[in-house]
Amino acid sequence: MFWVDSVAQELKKRKLPLEWVDDMKTPSGRIHVGALRGVVVHDLAFKALKELDVKAKYTYVFDNHDPMDSLPVYLPRETFEKYLGLPLFKVPSPVEGFSDYAKFYAKEFMGVFSKIGCHPEILWSTDLYKSGKMNPLIKVCLDKASEIRKIYEELYKKKIVKNWYPFQPYCSNCGKVSTTRVYNWDGEKISFTCEVNAVVWTKGCGFEGEMSPFSNKGGIAGKLPWKIEWAAKWKVLGVTVEGAGEDHMSRGGSHDLASLICKRVINYPVPYALPYAFFLIGGRKMSSSKGRGSSASEMLEILPPELLRFLMVKTKISQQINFDPSGDIIPKLFDEYQKAADAYFSKEDRDLARIFELSQIDKIKKPPSIRFSVLAQWVQMPNMDCAIKKEGLEEWASYAKIWVEKYAPESERFLIQQSLPESVKNLSGKQKEYLSKVSLELNKSWRPEDFQINLFEWAKELKLSSKDAFSAIYISLLNKNYGPKAGWIILSLDKEFVKKRFLDAANS
Ligand SMILES: [Zn+2]
Repeated sequence: MFWVDSVAQELKKRKLPLEWVDDMKTPSGRIHVGALRGVVVHDLAFKALKELDVKAKYTYVFDNHDPMDSLPVYLPRETFEKYLGLPLFKVPSPVEGFSDYAKFYAKEFMGVFSKIGCHPEILWSTDLYKSGKMNPLIKVCLDKASEIRKIYEELYKKKIVKNWYPFQPYCSNCGKVSTTRVYNWDGEKISFTCEVNAVVWTKGCGFEGEMSPFSNKGGIAGKLPWKIEWAAKWKVLGVTVEGAGEDHMSRGGSHDLASLICKRVINYPVPYALPYAFFLIGGRKMSSSKGRGSSASEMLEILPPELLRFLMVKTKISQQINFDPSGDIIPKLFDEYQKAADAYFSKEDRDLARIFELSQIDKIKKPPSIRFSVLAQWVQMPNMDCAIKKEGLEEWASYAKIWVEKYAPESERFLIQQSLPESVKNLSGKQKEYLSKVSLELNKSWRPEDFQINLFEWAKELKLSSKDAFSAIYISLLNKNYGPKAGWIILSLDKEFVKKRFLDAANS
C-alpha cells in the first residue's frame, strides 16, 4: 500500500472529530524547493484522509513575525542591512505592490504550491498573535519558565541562566526582536533589555524597559522562541498532524523540544509527525539564500507542475530526493511519469497507479505518449512547430526546449550546420552515391514514415550498411555521426537546402 494511505488508515482509527493537518515556513527570502516537499507531504496526508471520509483540514502558517536574521545574496545589502533584526512583516517588500517583505516571498511560494495542486488555508503568525489567541500560551510559558529552562538543560546539556525567560519582545524603542532579552516576569509585565551586542550581525539599541507580553487590541508585543511557539501553535490551532524536515526531526532537535513543551508545559498531545528527508539539488542542501537554482519557483521553470509534484510523490518520505537538472535526469523523470500513467490507465501496478493519481493537479490528465527524448529532438528541428501543435505537445515541448538549451549533454544537442562541414571529405564513395540518390528522391513529395522506410531501402540497394548510410546524412547536416530520426529531420528542412547540401557533400 502506498505510504500515505497506510498513514491515513492509522489516523482514521484514532476517531478524532477533526484531523487538522498543518505545515509552516518562515518567508525569509525565496523559498527553497525543500520546503515544497513539506507542502506536498502534508497535502497527501490531507487528501488521503478525505478519501477515507475522515473530517480533515489543512492549513499552512507563514511565520511572518520571525526576525530577518540574514540577507539573501540577491538583495542589495545597502538597502536591506538596516532591517536586520526586525520582524519580517516590518521589512519593506523588495518589489512594489506587496505590503511587506514576508508577504512578497510568501506569495511567491503560494503561487508555486497552488500550481502543483496544494491549496491549504493560509494563516499568518501575526494574525495568531494579534487575535489574542496566543496570550494564554504566552502566560503559561512565562509562568513555567523554570520548567522550560529545565527542558533546555536536559535536552542540550548546558546551563541556562536563572533570569532567562521564554519570550522575545519587539523592542519598544528600535523595533528589533533579535536583540531583546527578557530578565524578569512579574505575572503581568516583562522587563527586558535590547542588548547592543546580543548578536554579531546587527546591533541592539541598549533600551531597557517593561511591557505587557500580551497582544492587546490588535497590537503585537513580541513572540515566543520558535521551538516553544511551534508547540503553542499546535495547541492554539488544534493541530493533530504535522511533521517537518529531517533536520528538525532528528534526536534532540526542535521537534523533541516542542514535544516536551507539549507534555510538560502546555498539556497538549503531540501531533502525529510526518518526518521527511531533504530535497537536494545536485547532491547539496542548498539554502535559497545562496542565490538562484534551487528555489521552488525556479523548479517550475524547468518542470511542468505535474512532474514536479510526481517527483515528490513517488519518492518515499524517508528517502532523500536528489535532483540534478543537468544530464538525463529530466528525460528519465518524464519516462517514469509516462510509465506511471500507463500503470494507472491499464490498472496494472497499483502502487505506481496510485502515485500517478496523487501526482495529478486537481484532475486526472493523460500525458502525451511521445518520449521526452524524442520531443527534445523535435524541438531542435526547424519547421516542427506544426507537428508539435497538431499533436498537442506545446506544453511539454516548451520544457524540452529549456532542457536542450540549459541542461542537455552535448550528445543530445543537434544543430543544423550552416555550411558544408569539413568532415564530409571522409565520406566513402558509396556514402556519396547514397547522398546523391537521396537528393534526387527529394524531388517527389513524401510522408516522413514512408521516406524513413525508403532511406533504409536505398542503402540496401547500394549494398551500404544502414549505419554508414545514416551517418552520411548526419555528417552532412549536423556534423555528427548520429542524430534524430533522419526521415523527419530531412523533411523538416527546406527541400532545396537539403538537396544542395547532399549534392555538395557528394561532390566534395
Ligand atoms: Zn532596541
